[in-house]
Formats: sequence, C-alpha cells, structure tokens
Amino acid sequence: MQNIYIIGIGLIGGSMALDIKQSNPEVTIYGIDSNESHLDEAIQLGIVENKATIADLKNADIVIVSVPVDASLKIINDVLDAISENTLVIEVGSTKEAICDVTRKHSRRRNLLATHPIAGTEFSGPSAAIKGLFLGKTNIICEVEETAFKLQEIALKLFADLGMRIRYMNPKAHDKHIAYVSHLSHISSFMLGKTVIEKEKNERDIFDMAGSGFESTVRLAKSSPAMWTPIFKQNKDNVIETLEEYIANLEVFKKYLEADDYKAIYSEMENTNHIKTILKGIV
Ligand code: NAP
Repeated sequence: MQNIYIIGIGLIGGSMALDIKQSNPEVTIYGIDSNESHLDEAIQLGIVENKATIADLKNADIVIVSVPVDASLKIINDVLDAISENTLVIEVGSTKEAICDVTRKHSRRRNLLATHPIAGTEFSGPSAAIKGLFLGKTNIICEVEETAFKLQEIALKLFADLGMRIRYMNPKAHDKHIAYVSHLSHISSFMLGKTVIEKEKNERDIFDMAGSGFESTVRLAKSSPAMWTPIFKQNKDNVIETLEEYIANLEVFKKYLEADDYKAIYSEMENTNHIKTILKGIV
C-alpha cells in the first residue's frame, strides 16, 4: 500500500489527491499544511485521510509539493532532507527556474521532479479542489534528466492516471513562455477589474450592464494574491517584458482611435482573430 503526502492541500494538491484516490483506492493520502483549518476541511471533505508533518515524510512513497512558489522555495530542501531513498517528490509550482536552481546541489535532487500542471481555476483552498481538473491538460516537466529514471516512470504513471499530456521544457523557456500565456493574462484581468471597480464608485449601474464578456475577461481577477504575488516576484523580468509589449499594443490602439483610423482598428482586430485557429481544440 502506497503512502502519498500532499504538502499544501489547496486547489492543486487537493484536486490531485481526489483523482489519485479515485484511480488508486488502495493508497493512503496524508495532508500537510501550514493552515490548520484547511487541513481539517480537507479531512472533512474526504480529500485526505490523515494529517501529517514533514518529519513523517520518511514513510512517503510520493510527496506532492503544492504550496505557493515562495513557500515552495523555502521548504523544498527540508522536504528532500526528510524523505527516504526511493521517495518521489513532485513539485507543481507555476514558476520553474528558481525551484530548479535552489535544489540543484541537493544530494537527493534525483528524487525531485519539477512540474507545472497547466490546469486550474480562480479559486483556492481545499474547498476549491475538484475531480477531473487535470483531464486532457498539459503537464510541463522541467529538467527531467535530473530525476532518477525509476522515479520518472512512477510520476508518468500518476500523470497518466490524472489524464494529463506531457511536455518537456527547460526551466528558463518555461518561465518565459508562461509569462505570456498565464502571468500576463492574470495581470490584464486584475487591472481590468480595478479599472471597472474604480469607475463603479461613481456609476453604480455599471455592474448591471456588465455582460458575459466582462465576466469572462475579469474571471482571473478573483485569483488569490497570496499565490500570484510570489509568482510575479520570481518571474519579474519575463513579466516586465510581456507588460511592455502589452502596454505598447494598448497605446497603439488608443492612438488609432484618437486619429479616427478605423481601418487600422479593424485590421488590428482582424489579425488577432487568428487566435481562433491557434486555440481551436484547446478546452
Ligand atoms: P492554494 O489553493 O492556495 O493551496 C495552497 C495551500 O498551501 C494552502 O492551504 C496554503 O495555506 C498552504 N501553504 C502555504 N504555505 C505553506 C507552507 N509553507 N507549508 C505548508 N502549506 C502551506 O494554492 P493552489 O492554487 O493549489 O497552488 C499551489 C501551487 O500550485 C502553487 O505553487 C501554484 O503556483 C501552483 N499552480 C497553481 C495553479 C492554479 O491555477 N491555481 C495551476 C498550476 C500550478 P494558506 O492558504 O493559509 O496560505
């Protein structure tokens, strides 16, 4: 019987726990979390069976580290210190370069697999955990060659159980690309929400008029600042680069409007419609 320990029993860790238990009912799932009420909630919701501590990790077959990326950097080497020789540690943070750097010299580096499951919602904590979150989604694995082959195989079986597709990337490329498709989208959504909230103070009707377009564009602004601040901190340089390009595009759009250049505006939107082809088939 396998012992699986989830450190950080929120949206990602909790959702993994639910799917793992469903496809492997014989495993025992333990939860470790700095938030005691989240642990109680996770037990009550049937996400984990028992509470545990870092010292218990010597009994772990698999450890999933799913805490915010700043916490992950702080605890990952203690986790590697606490495990046994054959334990697999899967880290799932949204940035990958810093975690690979901070563990590079650890004697148990070969027990660690650095991953980023590209799946999520705007909600946090154990109550946000859902079954099937990872089905058909991509899991990016970084520096796979640094992980023991035997443990890679165990991880791939687990990801297959979750229904995930695998892509391999180096951590630098991961952090650069993810800044565009994930980090910039979140900033854009947060700042759109801010712009509308500030206006709403004077114009109370604005939310009555908000349609599904506003709702879907601003959805990510409900995301947790505790999770996103350390992501922006760790990926600061790439995020600044994406912001500069995005702000430049907004400025150009504004200039066309000021100049009544509707042909240029039409063409900007028409060119961007190409996104329909790019995203076709992605759910
Ligand atoms: P979450 O729902 O907020 O869950 C994280 C849990 O970890 C919370 O219970 C939190 O408690 C706890 N925690 C914080 N610091 C801790 C520590 N030092 N030791 C033990 N527990 C600690 O977050 P999440 O959305 O699942 O994200 C977890 C990780 O997955 C992050 O690294 C994130 O970058 C990554 N990720 C997220 C998504 C997404 O869409 N959400 C997608 C892919 C990957 P408190 O709430 O009290 O702090």
